[in-house]
Amino acid sequence: MAKDSNPQVLIAGAGPTGLAAALELSRFGVRTRIVEEMEGPGSTSRAIAVQARTLEELEIRGLADQFVELGHRAEGGDIYGDGKLLVHVDFTKIPSRYNFVLFLAQTETERILREALEAQGGAVEWGVKVTAIGLEPSSVTTVLEHADGSIEEVTAAYVIDAEGAHSVIRNTLGLQFKGKTLEETFVLGDVQVDGNLPNSSFHIFSSESGLLALFPFGGSQFRVVASNPPRDLAKAKMPTIEELQALCDQRSHFPIKLRDLTWSSIFHANSRMVGNLHVGRVFLDGDAAHIHSPAGGQGMNTGIQDAINLGWKLALVLEGNTSEKLLDTYDQDRIPVMRSILSRTEAMTNAMGGPSTLRSFFLHLAPWIANSEFAQEIATSRISQIQMNYRNSALSEDHFGDGSLTAGDRVPDITVRIPGKDAPKEATRLSTLLDASRFTLLLANFQNVEALETVRATLGKAASTWLELVDVAKVAAPDGDAGKPFADAFGVKPSITLIRPDAYVGFRGGESSAEDLIKYGDKWFTPAAQRQAA
Ligand SMILES: Cc1cc2nc3c(=O)[nH]c(=O)nc-3n(C[C@H](O)[C@H](O)[C@H](O)COP(=O)(O)OP(=O)(O)OC[C@H]3O[C@@H](n4cnc5c(N)ncnc54)[C@H](O)[C@@H]3O)c2cc1C
Repeated sequence: MAKDSNPQVLIAGAGPTGLAAALELSRFGVRTRIVEEMEGPGSTSRAIAVQARTLEELEIRGLADQFVELGHRAEGGDIYGDGKLLVHVDFTKIPSRYNFVLFLAQTETERILREALEAQGGAVEWGVKVTAIGLEPSSVTTVLEHADGSIEEVTAAYVIDAEGAHSVIRNTLGLQFKGKTLEETFVLGDVQVDGNLPNSSFHIFSSESGLLALFPFGGSQFRVVASNPPRDLAKAKMPTIEELQALCDQRSHFPIKLRDLTWSSIFHANSRMVGNLHVGRVFLDGDAAHIHSPAGGQGMNTGIQDAINLGWKLALVLEGNTSEKLLDTYDQDRIPVMRSILSRTEAMTNAMGGPSTLRSFFLHLAPWIANSEFAQEIATSRISQIQMNYRNSALSEDHFGDGSLTAGDRVPDITVRIPGKDAPKEATRLSTLLDASRFTLLLANFQNVEALETVRATLGKAASTWLELVDVAKVAAPDGDAGKPFADAFGVKPSITLIRPDAYVGFRGGESSAEDLIKYGDKWFTPAAQRQAA
């Protein structure tokens, strides 16, 4: 079949980021091509940690169960210093249904995303490399080189660069990838471990010689990672099982016996990002935009969430529902998140295996972390990425002060009651009311029918325009103790909360904020009349 030479969006790269972007766009019906220079799927495990926020987003897309069934849950992490347990990080405290780190090989993550894309009618084009790009005011032309040597020119309305760290597009656009290559060299291996090492936690050993970490995949399978290997090993391409065993013997006080090495590698961690995420109609997502140390398992998760943030915005622009100024909020939302992840992963790497001054500072601080609920909460909610928010984005507008939920926040994983005589008696999880292709307007705590009718009548005036993109749900606190998380988040006064398709709060107001909500909608969306005329 002839390929579409004018897709609406061309995606370069079919790693987890490109696949997530293709999945988002195809769900909205955007004509998309996704090209990948490799001739087939990757076969090495690479990223293994899938974080709670990614699983929450995947749940709304009907994919989380597949991940959880295949992956292995670690409910905590043990950090040891010089032979003693210093900290147990307790992930069960994460305020999410996914209160664990899920370990699953990147090959599996990519397979699930790819199959979901295929189920929506999309497909990766293997053996196709983007070699050049040209920006026009209203399109982007890319040159594609096929595996058989043939050359194709494609003109798309937008291009997503998901090529990973060595992006051709980023280099062609002359975007600086500022940052540094960290001094540390790391070796890794996927192995079976004999011994009594519990697989319900991951284990990090901080020693004078460097860091050693073991991450569980399930059963006796673990990923071993070590920093600062001996000089000869640092120059090797693939560490052997004997070399990995020697590092375990040197740094772990557990009797660990490694066997059956299936993959090993050696790498330097980089800490780099671009200053802006788009140039004209070209957008950078994932490792093409930011790379960091694997400490904390953040890279792939961040890339998938970049794609989710951009996907609905591009789709709405292409549908004519909004102007291109919505696309500027991709940078506003994601640049602060990327900056914060970069500095945290660098700090984590230095603290546990880096220069001795930082390591001794960490060893002193660790017992305080272990005993402080506050510090535990910060550590876990940051690693799980559920604390990430877009409060400072132009798209976040707040007119309300009751409850902790603020415009720009992630929608909390809590239960709600649907009031009304025909509504189900049982409380339901808030996430089940959300649709990843639509906005959701939550009318919370409206006990007074008149107040609710006034809001509805005011919104009704705008119903012919952008409100057709919005589902409306009335919610209230579940009875008894189960109502506390709801009251903490939503307060007790009547409120109106507009949830974006990526499950972040766009607008939050009280019972008299309906006019403000209309203004918010009119600011960001194209009135229906204008859309029909276009
Ligand atoms: C050892 C290791 C462990 C890690 N562990 C974790 C972890 O536990 N959790 C986590 O979140 N992250 C982790 N990461 C990071 C994670 O692997 C990356 O962040 C993730 O792969 C980025 O996905 P991506 O799709 O943006 O880029 P990539 O995975 O690099 O995918 C880019 C794709 O684009 C293709 N491509 C490149 N150039 C072109 C071109 N010109 N034309 C067409 N195709 C092209 C490439 O072949 C590739 O398939 C780890 C990384 C490493 C190395």
